[in-house]
Amino acid sequence: MSQAQVLKESKGPKTPGTPGLIFEEPIVFEMGSPGRKAYSLPSCDVPEVEIETLLPPAEIREAIDELPELTELDVVRHYTRLSQWNFSIDTNFYPLGSCTMKYNPKINETLARLPGFAQHHPMTPDADSQGSLQLMYELQECLKTISGMEHASLHPAAGAQGEFAGMLMIHAYHSAKGNPRKKVLLPDSAHGTNPASATLCGYKSIQLPSNAEGTIDVAKLEAAMDEETAAIMLTNPNTLGMFEKDILKITEIVHKKGGLVYCDGANLNAIMGIAKMGDMGIDVLHINLHKTFSTPHGGGGPGAGPVCIKDILEPYLPVPVVEKVGSKYRLNADRPESVGRLKSFNGNFGMLLRAYAYIRTLGPEGIRQAAQSAVLNANYIRARLKDTFHLPFTGASLHECVFNDKGQGITTMDFAKALIDHGFHPPTVYFPLIVKGALMIEPTETESKETLDDFIEAMKSIAKKGKEDPESFHASPRLSKVSRPDEAQAARNPKLRWPGH
Ligand SMILES: *Cc1c(COP(=O)(O)O)cnc(C)c1O
Repeated sequence: MSQAQVLKESKGPKTPGTPGLIFEEPIVFEMGSPGRKAYSLPSCDVPEVEIETLLPPAEIREAIDELPELTELDVVRHYTRLSQWNFSIDTNFYPLGSCTMKYNPKINETLARLPGFAQHHPMTPDADSQGSLQLMYELQECLKTISGMEHASLHPAAGAQGEFAGMLMIHAYHSAKGNPRKKVLLPDSAHGTNPASATLCGYKSIQLPSNAEGTIDVAKLEAAMDEETAAIMLTNPNTLGMFEKDILKITEIVHKKGGLVYCDGANLNAIMGIAKMGDMGIDVLHINLHKTFSTPHGGGGPGAGPVCIKDILEPYLPVPVVEKVGSKYRLNADRPESVGRLKSFNGNFGMLLRAYAYIRTLGPEGIRQAAQSAVLNANYIRARLKDTFHLPFTGASLHECVFNDKGQGITTMDFAKALIDHGFHPPTVYFPLIVKGALMIEPTETESKETLDDFIEAMKSIAKKGKEDPESFHASPRLSKVSRPDEAQAARNPKLRWPGH
């Protein structure tokens, strides 16, 4: 099929983006011409010296072979074109479930680039860092208010490191009582980082099967909970997008046996401004600033995964802790019971700044509205696709919905790939693991009804064609630079070098 035909079949001229403008692009080493350059320097007005007087011989290169020689415009166009091969939230809808790919307002970027913050050296003494410290302190206060928790540490550089920090504190808490305990309970719908964090802290992960509604089975939890269990790690709302409605019973059962409750708060965008984890008996909560509070993420970072805790864990907070003494702010690393340092300096400060800007821009009412819109958008998609796709769990869902490929003519992977030809990023696929062939869709609050309608129409038209002509999907996507790479090979043997270099 020609590119024009594929375009017409997908959405015709309405296809978001313009695949026809994705130029062929050679690698930079194949470009340019000897003598071209991208700079013009004024003539030297200081005495010239031999390089040998400045550098040891081992540091001096004779020549640099085959470096491309290009003009400024060549370089600008090359890299701008390459950047356009990338799919981003600024180009189109990105319904990657669990990841919360919402639009990141540009004001956050502008503020993060203010020279007073961007050029602030992390080793500057506290007395000359009052602005940055105040920002961190106030962000902690905001997160405490939103979560209903009593303390916060901004150090963890990702959700996974927030989990690790939280589990280290739980370990320290039990150890101080004389027995660190041996096990951690995890529902079978948990994100993979949860058991990994428990294991890194020396705990054995015990899987709790979900009930028919996709939430924690209270009877099974009660049977599994004992005095060798350090904690339960649950996710609320969980990875099916459902609120753990028995949360009060769950936290009571765990506390009765002396255990603590860890909540993975990666899905906080569904309930922020509406319900507080601190009110539900949660002892530790991590928050993904890069998801809920809108900083650009994906491709491995950077992120920020602050961990919020109750008073009982306060002695174990990672150091340094940002404190306010009178009207001054300071960093305190002199805390003998701390679990230690997690990151150099103050964590990913730029991410903290963006999250602070976002929270202060929205304010309490805006935060609540964002959660309400996220839930409304997900339920709109759910309602409009539920007659076309099988919903394995039918209970009320919040900010995301999970369908699967049962009864379709093509597989979940075929849907994911076909959506690319419609200009959409695929949803999360084959996760959570308890749903066979899962298609996990999280629209977030930032999308308009028109975008959601376009996506719904694309899903329906792929489903219809998938039943009529399933074979035709094996070659999709057809409009992208690469169709179906061998993903295992691409991850294990990435080709990152120009041949011969
Ligand atoms: C994203 C996510 C994590 C991990 O967060 P990272 O910042 O990617 O380390 C953990 N749990 C859930 C439910 C998530 O969605």
